[in-house]
Order: sequence, then structure tokens, then C-alpha cells
Amino acid sequence: MKYVDEFRDATLARGLAHAIAAEARSHRDYHLMEFCGGHTHAISRHGIQDLLPPNIRLIHGPGCPVCVLPIGRIDSAIALALDHGVILCTYGDVLRVPASERLSLLKAKAAGADVRMIYSSLDALRIAQENPDREVVFFAIGFETTTPPTAAIIRQAKAMEVKNFTVFCNHVLTPAAIRRILDSTAAPEEGIGGAEGVRLDGIIGPSHVSTVIGSRPYEFVAEEYQRPVVIAGFEPLDVMQSILMLIRQINAGRAEVENEFIRAVSRDGNPKAQSLMAEVLETRPAFEWRGLGTIPHSARRINAAYGDFDTERRFSIPYRAVADHKGCECGAILRGVKEPRDCRLFGTACTPENPVGSCMVSSEGACAAHYTYGRYRDYRDAGSTRKAVND
Ligand code: SF4
Repeated sequence: MKYVDEFRDATLARGLAHAIAAEARSHRDYHLMEFCGGHTHAISRHGIQDLLPPNIRLIHGPGCPVCVLPIGRIDSAIALALDHGVILCTYGDVLRVPASERLSLLKAKAAGADVRMIYSSLDALRIAQENPDREVVFFAIGFETTTPPTAAIIRQAKAMEVKNFTVFCNHVLTPAAIRRILDSTAAPEEGIGGAEGVRLDGIIGPSHVSTVIGSRPYEFVAEEYQRPVVIAGFEPLDVMQSILMLIRQINAGRAEVENEFIRAVSRDGNPKAQSLMAEVLETRPAFEWRGLGTIPHSARRINAAYGDFDTERRFSIPYRAVADHKGCECGAILRGVKEPRDCRLFGTACTPENPVGSCMVSSEGACAAHYTYGRYRDYRDAGSTRKAVND
């Protein structure tokens, strides 16, 4: 397929693998975090870790939108559907995220709640128009990639004067999460992780998010934290080229924001999408993330001008923070300090068919990606030894 096959070429991949092996210095390790869940999926799917020397370790970050949604937010959505009797519309993966009391939106639906899976924000507005006697709530989640469609549908609902439609806005901000991760890591020269963080030498930057916000918002990573960032496309050659670019920066002692994904990402991003978001949404003072805790200025909510379409203003849904299942390691995995195979529930009590934590729900979740593509391998000590484990 044109524009895809070129970025999956095996000969080019082998060439990049040789270049990475040649340029990675044998006397040191390289700890690189892929922030985005799309990259986690691509790395697992295409076996990219297998193509790297053992001293290059890829660490999964918190960039899977379903994974970082805390249980309290799912509980609020369930309360809207069960207690307030709304038609609750959301994307498919969200329906299966485990909530409190062994519930999920899917189980709430089985118990009689009117929960509907949609493919786009437009579907939710259409459902509201088709059901004028019912309150319809769009449970909106995701990073900056999915935020503009949410802003667009709110603006459209206002223009069309749809009175029975609101949005439960849970959109989160990538740079704030990167800062939280970096605040918990040691400086590169210290060589080890911080008290609770992972050691991090460089970041593979998100691709879709960056098409919206551009590369400029990552510049603080290089300037304040002295870590290189390379924004990468989602295809395997994109990821491998980005790893090579990071190795070169690290070897040269450089910390810059570089852009491998130049076919879609610019420094300033998409100004139309940004102005649409600015018109409808504002930054929350703080927001709870699964695994990362409460992070200041890390999410968006609907602003006063569009307040009539804000679910949190129309309904009383007090927020309650809820701890993860006690055996689930999602929090540590989202911080990069553990891997899926470190969880004793992985592949036993917790599978994609029966997820215990959010990281096993979406294909972008680290646990689901490992289970689907790499469950027979164990990378727990990728820095020195790599052993295959028969399941
Ligand atoms: Fe959580 Fe399941 Fe992953 Fe364990 S395997 S960390 S329970 S999602």
C-alpha cells in the first residue's frame, strides 16, 4: 500500500538496525521512552525491541488515552448512566475499562443503563437530535489528537441550539504528563532513576498529538531537563530512524527537539485545531491521571461561553479518587518503572478478554500490546540479558 509499505521495508529496517548497532556505544545503556501508546503498539507489533542491541531499552510511557483515565472518572460516567438516566455515548475501548465494584460501562449497560458505543463525536450529537426527550452525554477522553473533534461538536451543538446534549470532557495534555515523568527521573549524568522514577535518556515523541500541537511544546524537555526528543511517525522505519536520531544526540551530548515525522508535523502544529480548542475549552487547574497522580494544568474542560454544554455543570457528579485493583501494576507501568510481565496477573487473571486494569483494554495499552504480540518473551532485564520464556 502506497505511503505505508515504504515505511515497512525489511531491507531498510535491517540497514537501520545495523546503523543503530554500529552507533550505540557498548560501554553504556540507552533508556528511551516512547510516550505514545501508538508507538507502544507499533514496537510490539513489529518486534522493534528484537532488532536493537541489548543496551538499548525501550520504556513504555503514559500515552495510551484509555490507560491514563482514572477509575474515578469511569465511576462518574457510570453514575451519569445509572443514576441520572442519561444516554451515555463514548468510544468502544472506554466501555471495557474496569471501574469500582467490578463494574464497567459495558456491565452498567448489561444492568440496564443506556450506554452507546460511537465512532465519532458527530454520532453523539445525532443521537441527541434523535432523542429530544432524553439527556445525551458524550463521554470525551483522549490527548490533543481527539480534542479538536470534541471542541467542534460542542460548537456545532451550540450553533444548532441542541438543548439535551452535553460533553463530559476528560481531554488531557501531553506536555504536562511528560513533565511529571521527567520530574520523577534522575538527571542523565546520575545514571540511575530517581526515588520513584525511571532513568530516561531520551523521548520518542508522539506523532498524532504533534500534528495538532506541533513540536514547539516539547522544547522545555531539551531546555530544562536536558533530554533529547525525536518526534516519530508510527511506522516501524519511523520508529527505528527516531531511535537512531536519539542515539546520535545522546552520543554527541546534545539535547534538542528533532522531528522525524516531517511529513505530518511542523513546529507550530495545526493552528486551526488550536484556535478551535482555545475557543471552546480551557485548562483545568488540576486533573488526576492513573499512575501519575494529580497533575496541575494537565487537562481541559469546557469554558464558560460554552458552559451550557458542560456535563459537569448540568449534573451533580462529585469526583471520588479510587485506588487501582491491588494486584494491578498499571500505575507503575504508566510511569515506566515496571513492565507488563512484572505484573503477576498478566496473562493469567488479566487478559484482553477479561482486563483487570486499563493497560490491558486498548490495543495501545502496554499490557495488551505485550499480550497480543510478545507474551512469550521476557524483557525484564533488557539492559544485559534477554531470555525467551515459554508460556
Ligand atoms: Fe493491570 Fe492487567 Fe496490566 Fe497487570 S496485566 S498491570 S492487572 S492491566
